[in-house]
Amino acid sequence: MLNLVLFGPPGAGKGTQSQKLIDQYQLIHLSTGDLLRSEIAQGTSLGMEAKKLMDQGVLVPDDVVIGMISNKLDANKDAKGFIFDGFPRTVAQAEALDQLLASKNSAIAGMLALEVNDDELERRLLLRGKDSGRPDDANPEVIRKRIVEYNTKTAPVANFYKAQQKFYSIDGIGAIDEIFASLCLVINQL
Ligand code: ADP
Repeated sequence: MLNLVLFGPPGAGKGTQSQKLIDQYQLIHLSTGDLLRSEIAQGTSLGMEAKKLMDQGVLVPDDVVIGMISNKLDANKDAKGFIFDGFPRTVAQAEALDQLLASKNSAIAGMLALEVNDDELERRLLLRGKDSGRPDDANPEVIRKRIVEYNTKTAPVANFYKAQQKFYSIDGIGAIDEIFASLCLVINQL
């Protein structure tokens, strides 16, 4: 199985590159952001709770997102592999993911980290907010809060994969196809 973690701050291009990677490697895309937005759209109680936090730019509790990922892994037993997009976002989530995959005799092959500076991130998210309709993209204060959450809770997840020699840094600035080529170069050597 080819299991990849696509990593990077909000606006780094994880969604864009995931789409291209799925086509190239026939992987299943697991985006916790998309899963949460779908719960909100369906009006579930999980969605209603998550929405309050997401609208403020803060993370949803670990057990909620770990449960969603576990369900999706079980629902896709014959997959060639998964792209984890926006997950794990805390060290506790990374530990839980290792355990979930180990119980299925699988593991993460590598973490691919898209590197983009804060000014460019804020610019991209405000631009995206104009047509995504996402409330968390529309407000500069919420965007900055998401970047703070990322720097304090999520950035340390990189060290978790560095310690396992599974961390790969990719320049996330430039043409979409160039960035995609850099990702493929790493994946083909995993
Ligand atoms: P982005 O990467 O652009 O911030 P996402 O669509 O991945 O956007 O996530 C949007 C929001 O959903 C996050 O700000 C957070 O509140 C919540 N969220 C998504 N994934 C997780 C996760 N793994 N753990 C906790 N909260 C999450």
